[in-house]
Amino acid sequence: MAIIPDSIEGFVDLVSKLPGLGRRSARRIVLHMLSNRSEMAKFGHSVLKAAQEMLVCICGNIDLSSPCKICTDERRDRSTICVVKDVSDIWAMERNHIYNGLYHAIGGVLNISEGKTPATLNIYSIKNRIKENNVSEVILALDGTLNGESTAHYIWQTVSDTNVKITRLAHGMPVGGELDYMDDGTISIAMRMRYNMKQ
Ligand SMILES: [Zn+2]
Repeated sequence: MAIIPDSIEGFVDLVSKLPGLGRRSARRIVLHMLSNRSEMAKFGHSVLKAAQEMLVCICGNIDLSSPCKICTDERRDRSTICVVKDVSDIWAMERNHIYNGLYHAIGGVLNISEGKTPATLNIYSIKNRIKENNVSEVILALDGTLNGESTAHYIWQTVSDTNVKITRLAHGMPVGGELDYMDDGTISIAMRMRYNMKQ
């Protein structure tokens, strides 16, 4: 006989699908929430509100409006697009205040076994944005992992027939490192030391 109600098991299932959490941690989180019903209700309300209001911009950023606040900010340099893996990388770059251009979050890196192909990632729209906005530089700020490297190379090939200058982050980015886990100083150096891929 199952002692855990189905509705609680279903909740544990959902929580265990969150990144970095297994079933054991999910059970602990759910039990913690159940012990504080008012916090749980606030949590539920927040999740629902985010799901209802969240919009995805052409640049891949998440905001309450589309185009997002970054894309519509007239003070930003519209001739530069920084390509990153996902929204958390945009937030990481913005925390540093070292970049004033636009972004393009592709939603992951190429990984065939996980179903991440050029068609499922937000890659092909980069070329349209380059043409439509007279972009002069594309900065590839993807992870220093093998998949990040191959994704950068693929994007480089995709846009290399345009006149845009293609640069990428260099020194400071550790091999195998992920942008979102780097400290502010490392991102800052990597951004300043970017180099031109198109020789
Ligand atoms: Zn945007």
